[in-house]
Amino acid sequence: MTLNIASRSTHRRVSYLRAGLVSVISVLVTWVVTGISLFIDPIRFRYDPVQPEVLNEIFMWTMITATVVPILVSFPVAVILQRERIKLSRALEQLEQAHAELAHSSRTDALTGLLNRGALMTAITELQSEGRSGAMLMIDIDHFKTINDTYGHAAGDEALRRVASAIAEKARPTDLVGRLGGEEFAVFLPGCDGRTADAVAERIRQQISAIQFIPRLGVDHQITASIGVAMGAPASTIEELFLRADRSLYTAKNSGRNRVISDTAA
Ligand code: GH3
Ligand code: MG
Ligand code: MG
Repeated sequence: MTLNIASRSTHRRVSYLRAGLVSVISVLVTWVVTGISLFIDPIRFRYDPVQPEVLNEIFMWTMITATVVPILVSFPVAVILQRERIKLSRALEQLEQAHAELAHSSRTDALTGLLNRGALMTAITELQSEGRSGAMLMIDIDHFKTINDTYGHAAGDEALRRVASAIAEKARPTDLVGRLGGEEFAVFLPGCDGRTADAVAERIRQQISAIQFIPRLGVDHQITASIGVAMGAPASTIEELFLRADRSLYTAKNSGRNRVISDTAA
């Protein structure tokens, strides 16, 4: 798609040289056709050889007409056609861009810019269908409702954005990071073993608790999150993985919050 856009944009301007070439071709074709018709036209025999000057005049005017008319017609037509093609190509480009933006926004969580729940599920399912397993982290902000209730919904939204950035910062480029909804996030770590998954989860937890969140002048509100980790086997379904990560998260919440619990320990 990108290639098409690039190749189209090389012909963005009307080429008068091209229009000129079309005119030359039209003139040549007209000359050939006129030449043939003059050759077989009986008019040649009617005047020839009595009045050769009349014949010459006919030839001359015919050739002038056969030159001027094709130029007058084909040059502007070639220019108009090129303009129309450029307009069409621009419209197509805008359509492709709108389509790409729509596809992107349908996969993205508008508040945080992370993958939305559906897109995350699809991406994990795709990886699993290729036989790739991994670890799942389920992250839930602690006492998030208090932020909304104390400082307002806008402050809550800002906290969500900050947490999303903290998570994304600690994820690897190949990890899938998404917002499941509300103040819940999930990270899928493809090909990750249990120990690495725990270490990544711990780094994310620390990054979240290091956020400097000042919802109101002079108030430094400490944000923390609880994280549940589940290790997936190649055969485990996405639902199983989510269920196990959710169970670990539940344990993390019940054992004091602001901690990482993995499913081997849950
Ligand atoms: P816990 O430590 O047990 O997780 O408690 P909690 O307060 O974080 O969890 P709870 O489920 O009680 O509250 C979640 C709140 O998140 C309730 C809801 O109003 C708020 N919320 C959900 N989506 C959004 C959002 O997009 N923006 C904001 N500002 N708040 C949201
Ligand atoms: Mg929650
Ligand atoms: Mg919560």
